[in-house]
Amino acid sequence: MGPSYRRAFFIFGYKMRIAIPNKGRLADDTRELLDDAGLTVNVRGERALSASLGGLFEAIFVRAEDIPEFVADGAADLGVTGWDLVAESGRSVFDLLDLGFGRCRLSVAVRDDSDIRTIADVQSGSRVATAFPRSAARYFKDNDIIVDIVPVSGAAEIAPHLGIADIIVDLVSTGSTLRVNGLRELCTVSDSTARLIGRTGLTNGRSADPIVGDFIAALESVVRAKGQRYLMANVPRALLPQIRTILPGLNGPTVIDILNGGEHVAVHAVVRAADVYRTISDLRACGATGILVTRIERLVP
Ligand code: AMP
Repeated sequence: MGPSYRRAFFIFGYKMRIAIPNKGRLADDTRELLDDAGLTVNVRGERALSASLGGLFEAIFVRAEDIPEFVADGAADLGVTGWDLVAESGRSVFDLLDLGFGRCRLSVAVRDDSDIRTIADVQSGSRVATAFPRSAARYFKDNDIIVDIVPVSGAAEIAPHLGIADIIVDLVSTGSTLRVNGLRELCTVSDSTARLIGRTGLTNGRSADPIVGDFIAALESVVRAKGQRYLMANVPRALLPQIRTILPGLNGPTVIDILNGGEHVAVHAVVRAADVYRTISDLRACGATGILVTRIERLVP
């Protein structure tokens, strides 16, 4: 963003408003993400409804399920909420960035003792309890099954045991809630993660607005860094071609001479967190010493 653009923002006192969940599963991860991106949520008191995020941004705290509405209506410019809630709202917003947390799936489930084995076994006229009536209705309609939707605001898993419904459509993460309630997952309606969403009028796409562009880039650098580690090790210079295959890194490992190191050099590289265990063992097999692994706060390629 050019300095004149920034100055105009300050002169007119406009703050970009971002709606974030006030409680629930996504609230803590959202604050941590903003914090890691250098946008600390400066809250005044537990019950505050809004907070400064520094210079150009202001956070407002609302229920995650209301965020698509707030953003679509323009009450907020940006928002963080689950994609399941965006889809359920039916509101038109930009999907700006997958934040990676809050992963779950919206699934169809039946009682363990049900004869229903696949979606094709569901009879028209079946009763479906769900807190996601639009998404559920759309799914069954797409499968040419006419069902009777029973909207509930939560705890759908009890409905089949009370005879209120034959089927439920609910969010599943580990599957343990379904298991302890004697339910069996039949099929997935949709997958979901937390997203950064934007109001359509403002952003007109991902990069059109420089302030939004900077904001997305900041969050993206944190999301990208989360699954990565920075690895350093001293390795025999003669084995560098082999080390290169173990440590591909972003652009191959950085190789640094060690003062009086002689036959050894230091290598630094970014590795996937999931690969660290195997990488260390491969490096040790090549005679690496002084292996150090650290977290990365932000990663801008
Ligand atoms: P689990 O037992 O891990 O499968 O979690 C299922 C329960 O947690 C259900 O009551 C869901 O409504 C709720 N749940 C799981 N993941 C999410 C999520 N990402 N956002 C909101 N609720 C969720």
